Amino acid sequence: MTSSLNTESLRKILKLEHQKGYIDSAVFGGLDKFLRNWTGQATGSVTDPQLLNRFHKLHLVNPNYALLTKQQRKEWVKAVLDFLAEEELREAEGDKAKPTPLVSRPSSRSRVQRTVVNQSIDSPVTVIRGISSSLATKFSRLGVKTVRDLLYFFPHRHLDYSQRKSISQLTEGEEETIVANVWQAQEIRLGGRRSTEAVVGDETGNIRIVWFNNPYLAKKLTTNTQIVVSGRVSLFNGRYVFESPEWELVEDRELIHTGRLVPLYPLTQGLRPRQVRKLMKGVIDQWAWQVEDFLPPELKERCNLLELPQAISQAHYPEDEAIKDRARLRLAFDELFLLQLGVLSKKRDWQESQPGSPFSVKTSVLETFLKSLPFELTAAQQKVLKELLDDLQKPQPMSRLLQGEVGSGKTVVAMAALLMAAANGYQGAFMAPTEILAEQHFTTIGQLLSRVGHQEEGEGYLCSYSGILSHSLTVALLIGDINQVKKQELQQRIANGEIDIIIGTHALIQKDVEFNRLGLAVVDEQHRFGVTQRSALRQKGFSPHVLVMTATPIPRTLALTLYGDLDLSVIDQLPPGRQAVKTKWLKPGQRDSAYAFIRRQAASGRQVFIICPLVEESEVIQARAAVAEYQRLSEGVFPELRLGLLHGRMSAAEKDKVMRRFRSGELDILVSTPVVEVGIDVPNATVMLIESADRFGLSQLHQFRGRVGRGTEQSYCMLLAQNPSEIGRQRLDLIEKIQDGFQLAEEDLKLRGPGEFFGTRQSGLPDLRMAKLSDIALLELARSEAIKLFQVDPSLEKTEHQPLAKELARVWPEAGEWS
Ligand code: ADP
Ligand code: MG
Repeated sequence: MTSSLNTESLRKILKLEHQKGYIDSAVFGGLDKFLRNWTGQATGSVTDPQLLNRFHKLHLVNPNYALLTKQQRKEWVKAVLDFLAEEELREAEGDKAKPTPLVSRPSSRSRVQRTVVNQSIDSPVTVIRGISSSLATKFSRLGVKTVRDLLYFFPHRHLDYSQRKSISQLTEGEEETIVANVWQAQEIRLGGRRSTEAVVGDETGNIRIVWFNNPYLAKKLTTNTQIVVSGRVSLFNGRYVFESPEWELVEDRELIHTGRLVPLYPLTQGLRPRQVRKLMKGVIDQWAWQVEDFLPPELKERCNLLELPQAISQAHYPEDEAIKDRARLRLAFDELFLLQLGVLSKKRDWQESQPGSPFSVKTSVLETFLKSLPFELTAAQQKVLKELLDDLQKPQPMSRLLQGEVGSGKTVVAMAALLMAAANGYQGAFMAPTEILAEQHFTTIGQLLSRVGHQEEGEGYLCSYSGILSHSLTVALLIGDINQVKKQELQQRIANGEIDIIIGTHALIQKDVEFNRLGLAVVDEQHRFGVTQRSALRQKGFSPHVLVMTATPIPRTLALTLYGDLDLSVIDQLPPGRQAVKTKWLKPGQRDSAYAFIRRQAASGRQVFIICPLVEESEVIQARAAVAEYQRLSEGVFPELRLGLLHGRMSAAEKDKVMRRFRSGELDILVSTPVVEVGIDVPNATVMLIESADRFGLSQLHQFRGRVGRGTEQSYCMLLAQNPSEIGRQRLDLIEKIQDGFQLAEEDLKLRGPGEFFGTRQSGLPDLRMAKLSDIALLELARSEAIKLFQVDPSLEKTEHQPLAKELARVWPEAGEWS
């Protein structure tokens, strides 16, 4: 059917009404309201008098459905459905058979009109009347390409303009809404700009309104026009005034800018709020009902969830706060439920794919290694090591997430496991998120192994040790930009099986790296590695065991949801002798005393990190700012100290050089962009100064802080913030008070908005837009429902699960074969 006469949504709603037994529950707010809107749109585009006549005969224009008896409703619904069927048939028979066109358009457009029949919600937004290709470009900047994207383009919040007041009840400073009559409106100049001034009134009084920079309004607001006005009431020369409030005409149509919960959409240049609101309203009325509700009905009922179309439309234009919350709950449930299903199926695929490589624990090798360590493993490390060894001996590939507070000693546990792989004749891979960290791991492994065996050959990227295994144990570092010849040589040796442990970055999962017998893959600092990367790694070997490590403390439920394909181990204890890092949020005026403190620490031989102000997400700009800050500090503030600079635009070799110098104590201060965030281990560093600390998340601040306090000296974390927002202040307060990473993560969850906690976008998981990860109850509900469903129909083969299978394939195409 044509897009202008949208019979599809009307038909769907009436069918639903029929199914529900004519209790006027198909649409929230009642059918009458829906019909007024629908008919309003339809009659606007229909010119055929016969058709209009039928509209009236069917009481489509003013149905008063609410007042009908059940029997009358039944008859009426049937009559309208028959009419729609007839119309659709007529349309389908083609233009020729039709005596009068349903919609008046030039005949040359009839081809266009026919293609319109095939529109679906996955059509590009340009199928919507009023969206030109230039407007479509603007939307695409916001990630909105199809009609469905538009339906899921949710407002970031709503303004509550739902309480109407009379003019005499208005309060200064409040957001208020009035319905009033225009007495007069005229163009005036305000601050040299052409603007509009109006005086409006109701039975209780009058009020002045000004709209800056908008002289054209004066013409629209003719005397006696009824308008609704929503905005903040301010006081000017002792009298109330609305300044540039939202407004709209009182008409038959639903209000969209005023007098209700008004959506605020994310905007981009060239999109105006009023325009977007109007457009969205039309799109929702016309299309929301065509979204297929993919959840099985009994699940919906059990969980008391709204119908999907209703949830979508209420998420945009809610009737009230309560239904808005329910709408969000439904949409959030969908996200979490689909995520969970995808994750479960991955776990199953993973475990059902080829059998893994069971290792046997070579006790003497392991013991020798552990004894050679300069410390004893903590009880928590021992417990986790045992969990790993148990897994490694099984024929199914291990799939485990190891969580451990920063500095809890995950690396050494992972190394013990890698050593077991090598002892069993397999290769082990150790992937780090950055080259600096990969190099650090390479160095650490080298240091530890030389305590057990003899270093035979050794160059920058390759080391061999004898006396540990029956053959000599070879460890290599493979990172993105080592020279091409060396790289090829390394790759060749990896493929031949000459190298036992390979340490690297993402470069390890690139296509040209082939392992000979990959038995174990360790992924460090998981939150930088997505699901997709994990699968890619798994495909590298004969279903290698996989160990994923993270220092980002994730509350258990959340971990199970996001990483439900992994088993969970936790190192919940720090090595002995660690002291709490004294944390202080400094006022901008205390900067100089912070610098003085740094000088004193440096004088006593300690080292210092300074994290540069966060300028922008762009690495280029960030790097430039870091260079400037480095210059300022080394020339103006600490001319007597040795400073180094680290940023993301430096080559790996440059970064490595700086890091080496810092680690070996040649530098006193390392000025760095946030790249230093994870994993770096320099026990002699005791001071961390973070600029614009208010702009980092709690978990990230905690990561920075974890760079110090790794030795036995008392360490300090100083936070500077220029002009923190309310939420920034809250974070700084929390990080000052709380040392425990898990507790901070819980607090972080409470503070953060939808989907932010993990940056799901980067991690390869489907987007979480509506789900707040603090919705623990909802998380658990979604998880238990997903498990339930997975038990009865793991491949979603049953007919009633087809819509779900389709949706899953759409949101998470790489997750598996759904349909
Ligand atoms: P993370 O878990 O943050 O990756 P690391 O593995 O980098 O932590 O360990 C942090 C520091 O603690 C390292 O210098 C490491 O040598 C040291 N370490 C690890 N385990 C112990 C232990 N049981 N006792 C003392 N020091 C330890
Ligand atoms: Mg680490």
